[in-house]
Amino acid sequence: MTTRRTLLGLLATLPFAPPALAASGTFAVRFTPDEWRRRLGKDAYAVLREEATERPFTSPLNTEKRAGTFVCRGCDLPLFSSAHKFNSGTGWPSFWQPINKAAIGTTVDRSYFMVRTEVHCSRCGGHQGHVFDDGPKPTGLRYCINGLSLKFVPAKAA
Ligand SMILES: [Zn+2]
Repeated sequence: MTTRRTLLGLLATLPFAPPALAASGTFAVRFTPDEWRRRLGKDAYAVLREEATERPFTSPLNTEKRAGTFVCRGCDLPLFSSAHKFNSGTGWPSFWQPINKAAIGTTVDRSYFMVRTEVHCSRCGGHQGHVFDDGPKPTGLRYCINGLSLKFVPAKAA
C-alpha cells in the first residue's frame, strides 16, 4: 500500500486539524490540560493529548534496534516490545502487535476524509497513532506509532 503510506506521509505535514479526541473517556491516569502540558512539553502534548502526528523520520525511535520495551510517554505503561517492531519504511516506529491486548484502546478516527483506527494508551488515554491492516505476518497488522508518544526502556543485561 505504497500509495496510502505516501498519502499519510503528506497528510502528516499538513497543519494539525482539531480532532475528535479519543482521550475523552475516563482513564486511570488523569491530569488537567495544563498539568499534561507541563509534564509532556509542547510537542509530546500535541501528539498525546491533541492527536497531532509527528513528522515522519523525525523520531530517534525509528532506528532503535535494541531489545527492550516501549512505554507510554504519558504514564510509563508498557505498550510495545522490541520483539514486535519492524521497519515499515513509513518513517514512524511500527509494530505488528502491542505488548498485550489490554495495553491499548482503539477508536474510529474519521479525520482527513479517511476512516482509520486510532490507537491510544489504555491507562492515560494518550494518543499513540493508528493501526492498519497492511502489516507483516503473523498478525498482518501495522501499528504506526508516534515516537513522541513513547519512551524506550532497554532490556537489562542478563
Ligand atoms: Zn499512558
